[in-house]
Amino acid sequence: MKGKGKIALLSGAILLGAGMLTPIADSTVVSEASEIKKPPVSGFISHDELSRTLNQIERTSKGNVQVDVAGYSNQDREIYKATIGSGDQVVLIQSEIHGNEKVGTKALLDMIKKIGKNNSPEMRQLREELTIVAMPMINPDATELNRRGNEMTWEEVEDQFPQLEGAAPSWNYYTYTNQYWDYASNPGFDVNRDFNPDLNYVLQPEDFPNNSSEPGWFITPEAQTVRDVYKDLQNQFGTVDVFIDLHHQGEYVIEGTDDPVTLSLSGVFVPHPDTPEGEKYQEYADNYNVDFSKQLNVAAYDALQQMGNSPFGNISLYPQDLDLPGTALGSFALNGSGAVIFEVTGQTQSFGQKKMGQLTRAVESGLYGILNSLATGEVYDLDVEDYDDIPLTDR
Ligand SMILES: [Zn+2]
Repeated sequence: MKGKGKIALLSGAILLGAGMLTPIADSTVVSEASEIKKPPVSGFISHDELSRTLNQIERTSKGNVQVDVAGYSNQDREIYKATIGSGDQVVLIQSEIHGNEKVGTKALLDMIKKIGKNNSPEMRQLREELTIVAMPMINPDATELNRRGNEMTWEEVEDQFPQLEGAAPSWNYYTYTNQYWDYASNPGFDVNRDFNPDLNYVLQPEDFPNNSSEPGWFITPEAQTVRDVYKDLQNQFGTVDVFIDLHHQGEYVIEGTDDPVTLSLSGVFVPHPDTPEGEKYQEYADNYNVDFSKQLNVAAYDALQQMGNSPFGNISLYPQDLDLPGTALGSFALNGSGAVIFEVTGQTQSFGQKKMGQLTRAVESGLYGILNSLATGEVYDLDVEDYDDIPLTDR
């Protein structure tokens, strides 16, 4: 499977190099002709490279960065967490829950290195005021396959949870085949629908297959690992103040313009518990703090606007009418974390590593905007209503 994947990738590179973007049957990959089109992603970070780099950063950080294995993916790859700083405010940042969304891992690794090793007053202030827990590449099996879903069968879930025998597979279980992926012969789950705002949820067969506006189940080891890190931080600090999730989206323009979106932000992933649509989340109403999420988004937006040229200025809001309690962001926001999503332009199966450097810088700028405003306390004075002035995305 992996060997054939490499051949497929090479063919895709040749096709793109020749400027031929339409699907063309290729006799060298007859058995997997459906996978011939992916552009190369070799400029992004592999799991091996992540392991080496984190190890090296820890060794040379003079004790500022602690790297731990937080858990293992379904195919037994390490899922890491890097802890920096000793402040009271806790910020959990993750990347690549979808393995075809790779810019966040580059940005996060750069950030761990800079905050951990740089002794400028700004970086020292971040280490003193914040405890930053960075989890780059939390779905490494998907990373290695350059696809959205993890690598896990429903039969493996049934082995772990025998009470599920005879239940329908969860709705986020992929078994389809298209031009990019063959989940039919190598199935997997969308890990970012496997979260549940009840962090102590006990699996019930009647909660399957469910759908996107209902919670997940923590059936994947990747979601379980992030949940466990989150709960450990809650136990240690009382709350996880901020949760940031780094993603990619398709190619869009800013509403009312022809300006291509560089990245979209959002702090809203479920309807407010005080509204009729959000009433089902009433038990979380006391913790949920969407105003703080909006302030964090404004901090990121302002930092990007200050970069002062158009790619970095082309920032929009992600759709605001979501009801996604099975996402990490939805679940953790309901548990009281200020939540921010970064959605940079272009899934790697179609966009490849185009504009990789620029997109990485944009994510880093937004992240530092958030971290600096937390460290100085300025975020708490930002106008919540400025969030609604961020332009929407034309979708
Ligand atoms: Zn994503």
